[in-house]
Amino acid sequence: MEPLDNLVNVLKKFPGLGIKSARRIAYYLMRQDDSELERIGSLVAGLKKGLHTCSKCGNISLKDPCNICQDPLRDKDTLCIVEDVEALSVFEQAGIYNGLYHVLGKLSGDDLTEESAEFLRQHIDEMKPEEAIIATNPRAEGDIAYYTLTDILQECGVSKITRLAYGLPLGGSIEFADRLTLHMALEGRRRVT
Ligand SMILES: [Zn+2]
Repeated sequence: MEPLDNLVNVLKKFPGLGIKSARRIAYYLMRQDDSELERIGSLVAGLKKGLHTCSKCGNISLKDPCNICQDPLRDKDTLCIVEDVEALSVFEQAGIYNGLYHVLGKLSGDDLTEESAEFLRQHIDEMKPEEAIIATNPRAEGDIAYYTLTDILQECGVSKITRLAYGLPLGGSIEFADRLTLHMALEGRRRVT
């Protein structure tokens, strides 16, 4: 059955899915009626419509600047630097942080791209945070992105630079941390300058 095989081939590329799960999902979809399939299809098709990258922080949002950057109740003196929008959403869902964010985007190897570094400098110049929290994914050795970030933050005159405490899995990803681990990492952040 070609359409089914085609769908399985697409689904098995999804993060965390292998061929077995892909097949299970494909057969689940086969059992749905046409209107439900159309609804799912249009949700996927419309997923990126109307979304912008926030010109201040790099978050993805329907508005530019994003809701977080525009929220008057946010602490404008603290900036949490994350690698991607998924990490930002993990902090948000945990409800443990009330400052602003900066999303670095895709690293080049283990380092920031020049555009990403420039975008961060702009954000810092405009915001002038008292504290910058480095919340990039911990890497076991040679954490180049971390050193680059520290250099940029120092050059931009941020006086207090902190880093999440470990307790987060090394080589792992912030996206997979549970709420408690993430909370402890945030609370136990240490000052690096
Ligand atoms: Zn924003």
